[in-house]
Amino acid sequence: MELVPVIGLEIHVQLKTKSKMFCFCDNSGETKPANTCVCPVCLAHPGTLPVANKQAIAWAAKTALALNSEIKEYSKFDRKHYFYPDLPKAYQISQFDQPIGTGGYLWVLNPTTQEEEKVSINRLHLEEDAAKLLHTNTKGSSLVDYNRGGTPLMEIVTEPDIKTPGQAKLFLQELRQIIKYLDVSDADMEKGHLRCDANISLHPVGEEKLYPKTEIKNLNSFKMVEKALEYEISRQTKLWLEGNPPKDLTTRGWNDAKAITEEQRTKEEAHDYRYFPEPDIPPIHFNIKPGSQCSDKEISIDVECLKAEIPELPNPKRKRFMSEYDINYDEAKLLTEDKETAGFYEAVISELKAWIEDLDQPQGKKYTWEQNRPQLTKLASNWVINNLLPLLAQKQISISDMKLSAENMAELITKIFTKEINNTSAVQILPEMVKSGAEPSELIKDQNLGQISDSKELEAIVKAIIKANPKPVEDYKKGKQAAIQALVGQVMAQTKGKADAEIVLELLKNNLNS
Ligand SMILES: [Zn+2]
Repeated sequence: MELVPVIGLEIHVQLKTKSKMFCFCDNSGETKPANTCVCPVCLAHPGTLPVANKQAIAWAAKTALALNSEIKEYSKFDRKHYFYPDLPKAYQISQFDQPIGTGGYLWVLNPTTQEEEKVSINRLHLEEDAAKLLHTNTKGSSLVDYNRGGTPLMEIVTEPDIKTPGQAKLFLQELRQIIKYLDVSDADMEKGHLRCDANISLHPVGEEKLYPKTEIKNLNSFKMVEKALEYEISRQTKLWLEGNPPKDLTTRGWNDAKAITEEQRTKEEAHDYRYFPEPDIPPIHFNIKPGSQCSDKEISIDVECLKAEIPELPNPKRKRFMSEYDINYDEAKLLTEDKETAGFYEAVISELKAWIEDLDQPQGKKYTWEQNRPQLTKLASNWVINNLLPLLAQKQISISDMKLSAENMAELITKIFTKEINNTSAVQILPEMVKSGAEPSELIKDQNLGQISDSKELEAIVKAIIKANPKPVEDYKKGKQAAIQALVGQVMAQTKGKADAEIVLELLKNNLNS
């Protein structure tokens, strides 16, 4: 029997608004001492009233638009009841039948087939987070930190049309990147800003019917999502083959140390949440008609304004980078990983154009932006990806914190391209440029790194090296081509790495072959 997995995801994203969802408490409670970001509203004192955070609603709607979801004219909050110490009101303010966003989809690239696959989204709604329970080792006692209670949480639910654990991981990575581009959450999975529950069931090939699903709770890394789903596929396959497929909806937790899922509860314990409309918060009104007037009576948000605020998203940006800068998918992916890196690269390109156009052209050489554009954009991409980003990662500096300007980076690339300095020297001065913001021309002058590409000067050195090294010369003349590299090395050592290696090789060949 061949079985096919059916996977759906539920993702919770903590929004980074200044205040909480329904009160004015500081929303950065995770960095503050326990129970210091609390007030009568989020502690559910009797007689207090919630006030919805307009920024959180706008950000949720903006995310919904970025996920191609539909925003309807009205949305509302509902009470979802359950009794637990992390929820002082004994109900959570969430959304039931009128979420912020309905439907939607994301394209995810399948790295094996290089084809884009659509993952459909069911809905996006807004709710408040519960408090944090700390289970101590002391017998029978648990502590509650209400700092997290009432913080704004966006829940995104996909349709069950994810086909593999790998696709689930890629979808999550794409989603996280979009959220970071929109700047609505730090989306740090380790800190729990982005948490994922995965639903999975199997069915025999050819059958349309959906079987009872298993929900795997609180997966806090991309790798965990993939591993937990792979484990569930093998566990459920075994049950199917034994003639005993899962009959009820069950909830399981991922045990990372043991790399297994463990049963937490079954259907009998499933909640009846008794949803009903939250009477203390007016409905949300979205102006979906362009140019319509805002009403003061309801929470009103202009959808056209939100659309205008959405930046170019990762997927279209990657595609544009590939066509505009002649780079491949992997390069485009690395350069668009975050908005700052992408912005820096594009600023370098625009400065590079200015540098090339203003260049004092060396004799006999003519560089133009039009003719050399593909080589230049590619060289800039190589330098950002292979030299700058690893250096920043090593020094733990972000693009926005470094002192290196796009103009100076472009100047360095221009000097490499026109062979004013060689790669070795450029690699040598880059850290200083990042650290102090120094101009490459100054560093080249100070450290005497200018590349020697004057043939006459090099010719004399080449002749001397040939004379002083009879062994490799003899080897080369006997046909051992590689022996010439030893001579190139000698010239480079003599010139402290400043010689133009291509010219050196050419001069050596001319001298040895004549
Ligand atoms: Zn509060």
